[in-house]
Amino acid sequence: MAGLDPRRVVVVGGGISGITSAIEIAETGTEVTLVERSPSLGGRVAGMFRYFPKLCPPYCGLEIQYRRIKANPRISVMTDTEVTAADKCADGWKLSLRRNARKVTDRCTACDECTAACPVERRNPHNQALDATKAIFLPHRLAFPLRYAIDAQACPGASCGKCVPACPFGAIDLSMQPQDLELTASKVIWATGWKPYDAARLAHLGFQRVPNVITNVMFERLAALDGPTGGKLLRPSDGKEAKRVVFVQCAGSRDDEHLPYCSAVCCQASLKQASFVRETYPDSRVEIFYTDRRAGDNEDFLRKVQSDPNIVFTKGKVGQVTEEPGSGDITVVAQDTPTGPSRTAIADLVVLATGIVPETSLAAIPSGITRDAYGFLTGSHTEGFEVVGCASRPSDVTRSVQDATGAGIRAQRSLAVR
Ligand SMILES: Cc1cc2nc3c(=O)[nH]c(=O)nc-3n(C[C@H](O)[C@H](O)[C@H](O)COP(=O)(O)OP(=O)(O)OC[C@H]3O[C@@H](n4cnc5c(N)ncnc54)[C@H](O)[C@@H]3O)c2cc1C
Repeated sequence: MAGLDPRRVVVVGGGISGITSAIEIAETGTEVTLVERSPSLGGRVAGMFRYFPKLCPPYCGLEIQYRRIKANPRISVMTDTEVTAADKCADGWKLSLRRNARKVTDRCTACDECTAACPVERRNPHNQALDATKAIFLPHRLAFPLRYAIDAQACPGASCGKCVPACPFGAIDLSMQPQDLELTASKVIWATGWKPYDAARLAHLGFQRVPNVITNVMFERLAALDGPTGGKLLRPSDGKEAKRVVFVQCAGSRDDEHLPYCSAVCCQASLKQASFVRETYPDSRVEIFYTDRRAGDNEDFLRKVQSDPNIVFTKGKVGQVTEEPGSGDITVVAQDTPTGPSRTAIADLVVLATGIVPETSLAAIPSGITRDAYGFLTGSHTEGFEVVGCASRPSDVTRSVQDATGAGIRAQRSLAVR
């Protein structure tokens, strides 16, 4: 176990919030360890095609942050490592960590020689399982660190071993095992973020029953130039260009049976995605079925998207989604009020705007910290603990970065006056 360092901050979660807090703390003189459970940093933002409201690629922001991390010796990054418990102790916090065996060392240069040798495929989580990678894989083209990893669930291990001699740099170590570790810190910043609401629970909206019904998170990958279709909006069932696209807002959100709250970003995510459809296919048509049009601080963005006559906004709750036999087309039926007339749309592709669920809704949470009825952490005023970004509430990147910067500054200041 590492000794208690009175001036060490541990940031849990390497998404945009955790990265921002870590940089803020390190650049003002304090040692910080940034712990991320997946093989690379960036969190959910790394899976987006472009950001609202300006529609620039997330890598504009992330790449600068990665450069700041590389340049700062006060930041230690631990990827492939999940924080499984955090307990208050006399001078701060004791954290339990599970480090997964990546089986690829830092000698890897990402040359890609190993993938040709690997005979095993697995669904690609970065592309929302819309395509596959080999069991030895680069998390994605712009991963940080830019290093391959082995999916232990898919890889048969030493009984195969074909990747080992294929690596010109001797970077593959199939004997690597997971490790349990402990870390202590005087302050902890919790930035574990969100996961999408499980669309499999929305059978009435056709997910998994109708192949051309996807979620908004899947759509980000479909639109991405490094995604499964190279940025072409092709529907999953037959690869046809998706030129008639319907967005179903509040898919599970603001619904007592599913997520009773508003996820704050889904309206803007659909506005953004509607504009991708229109950019990709000038002869396309989009219909958005909504409950309310919520654009937060980005009213100009809403106005801009609304000014396109081929993006139609229809107030109504979607109650039925069915596939036309033989064609793969989808019929969507919505109703504004229970007794009002219904509206029908025919689509090539339906996108469900599913909401944000905090990672902390089911995971073990730090001792002494509480969560609200939906699982968001509420412990920001506990001594030595801060919660930032989507671990505390559904928020966009701007708000997550503001939270994370504030928490970083507070943590650093309180250590400076000790
Ligand atoms: C469809 C969709 C589109 C969106 N588009 C936009 C957009 O265009 N513009 C915008 O501003 N916002 C957008 N958002 C919101 C944006 O995704 C969030 O603001 C952002 O992801 C919040 O970052 P975060 O770091 O708080 O959480 P996350 O991005 O979820 O990062 C959390 C990180 O913590 C890690 N982690 C979790 N648990 C542990 C653990 N126990 N130990 C170690 N690591 C852990 C995770 O692996 C992850 O890397 C969109 C949201 C949705 C649903």
